[in-house]
Amino acid sequence: MSRLVTAIHELDPETIGQIAAGEVIERPLSVVKELVENAVDAGATRITVRLEDGGVALVEVVDDGAGIGADDLPLAVRRHATSKLARASDLESVASLGFRGEGLASIAAVAKVEILSRRSESQIGARILAHAEEASAPEPAASPVGTCVRARDLFANVPVRREYLRRPAAEFNRISGWLSTFALAYPNIAFSLHHDGKEVWAMADVAEARARLHAVFGRSSTETLIALRPEAARGLQGSLEGYISVPGTDRPDRRMQILFVNGRLLRSALLAGAWTAGYSTFAMSGRHPFGVLFLTLPPSHVDPNVHPTKSDVRLRFGHQVFDAVKNAIAATLREHATARFRDAVTISAAPQSMDPPSQRMQSLFHDVSADTTHPQTNGRSALRVLAQLDETFIVATDGRALVLIDQHAAHERIAYEQIVRTAHERAPAEALLVPLTFELPPAESAALDRALDVLREGGLDVEPFGERTYRIIAAPAGYRSRPFDVAGFIDDLTEDPKHRDARERVWASLACHSVTRAGERLEMAEMTTLVERLQHCENPMHCPHGRPTIVRMDSEWIQKLFKRI
Ligand code: ADP
Ligand code: MG
Repeated sequence: MSRLVTAIHELDPETIGQIAAGEVIERPLSVVKELVENAVDAGATRITVRLEDGGVALVEVVDDGAGIGADDLPLAVRRHATSKLARASDLESVASLGFRGEGLASIAAVAKVEILSRRSESQIGARILAHAEEASAPEPAASPVGTCVRARDLFANVPVRREYLRRPAAEFNRISGWLSTFALAYPNIAFSLHHDGKEVWAMADVAEARARLHAVFGRSSTETLIALRPEAARGLQGSLEGYISVPGTDRPDRRMQILFVNGRLLRSALLAGAWTAGYSTFAMSGRHPFGVLFLTLPPSHVDPNVHPTKSDVRLRFGHQVFDAVKNAIAATLREHATARFRDAVTISAAPQSMDPPSQRMQSLFHDVSADTTHPQTNGRSALRVLAQLDETFIVATDGRALVLIDQHAAHERIAYEQIVRTAHERAPAEALLVPLTFELPPAESAALDRALDVLREGGLDVEPFGERTYRIIAAPAGYRSRPFDVAGFIDDLTEDPKHRDARERVWASLACHSVTRAGERLEMAEMTTLVERLQHCENPMHCPHGRPTIVRMDSEWIQKLFKRI
């Protein structure tokens, strides 16, 4: 990511007036950030960070980038002097990490700064010292091509600031964590970090971020990260790449959701929302997926000038970006789930002796008979249903592994996808011969009122029928004969986890309360049909709430139980 470095000049008052001002240097990490960003902007291929005392005694950043000419050094440390912006209108399409010309000046205001630098066309380098408002005249000094900036004795002149700092080890950890995370977006730059004279870690330059994931997520979590599908960002002006956690390996908070927009490491409520929305129906409620996304947009679509520390951006086409991120994640997870399902089980048609699907199953799955006439063996051994366990699980085998299926979760997934299809295809609901009437307390009645339209889309037509009284006049095709758990469904509607897409949540609970429950006896034919239908789901591995539908215990696992291996 090499950016052309031209002469440094002071910004005009109009541009200065448009710059989001504020405290830039809060702790040693802020110094590291500013200096490392400058090195990246200078096109460095190698960046070395050396710290003493958690960065309070010394932050030194050495790069092999373009360097600063001797004549430019006094300007580099002056506030509002930059080589990265020419005029106010350039603020509308910033392509570099820095742009305000404040980084070095802000550091010099609170630390003793020394810069040693050489551009490739110069025979010898130059050095300058800057502190508070003072700067020395640049003097010739031997230097390799590139820049070395040292900031010593941070906040020596601002004792209150110093009091806010944590122990050196804690400050060091912040820096180490940030730098290894930042390095994800710059795989072709080699990074190293030293503390108190020792190298703590080093990353060679690599072809892609994957090789660096373990430094941020740890070895075992890295194994659960999958690459976003390359065509993920369809409909996006720009590109989206990344690695995301598979369902079931989520974290209790969002801290490990790492986001880069045009090479900037930042937090964005909008994009965090898109991330969560992409997992809707894949993730367990209250848990958070993790991973890293690299979003690249035209510079004119991203405004980094909204926050003094550049920790958030404003996006010009936020809605489109939201949808692209959400869809890319959902598509990647769907494909992953389907592939994993195929690995786990190959489901064939029912065994030869199977009875025709019972009337009850016909009504559960309106097109069930059509499916059973098309066996799907894929040349592999079939999954045979053996028994029902505890009126809750279906026990099956493909001859190589024991497979357990949660009957409720599996049925829920099937019903959910059918509801979503009904909504998308605008398939007609089936009118109930005898409408089901019920009455609700005020809070619940309000929750139901809000959900009526979405329910109708999903095929459940509920009609207000007097004060706080309703009747269900039509149900999704195939639901006619199912007992419908109205109370449970309304209960779900009134609790409101914010992280769920409202329509999907309503449909998920509609599915949940209209299907086979645990504790319900199923016939062999019903179980076989259920398992078959599951295979046609887009995401067969999880119910709409994110719980697993299928667990496979292979022979190796069983051998361990018997202490054979
Ligand atoms: P900004 O990055 O916003 O331009 P800074 O105060 O961080 O402001 O840097 C001022 C200028 O000094 C930059 O515009 C750049 O021209 C030059 N500069 C700073 N650090 C480096 C570096 N490591 N290599 C080359 N040039 C640098
Ligand atoms: Mg800068």
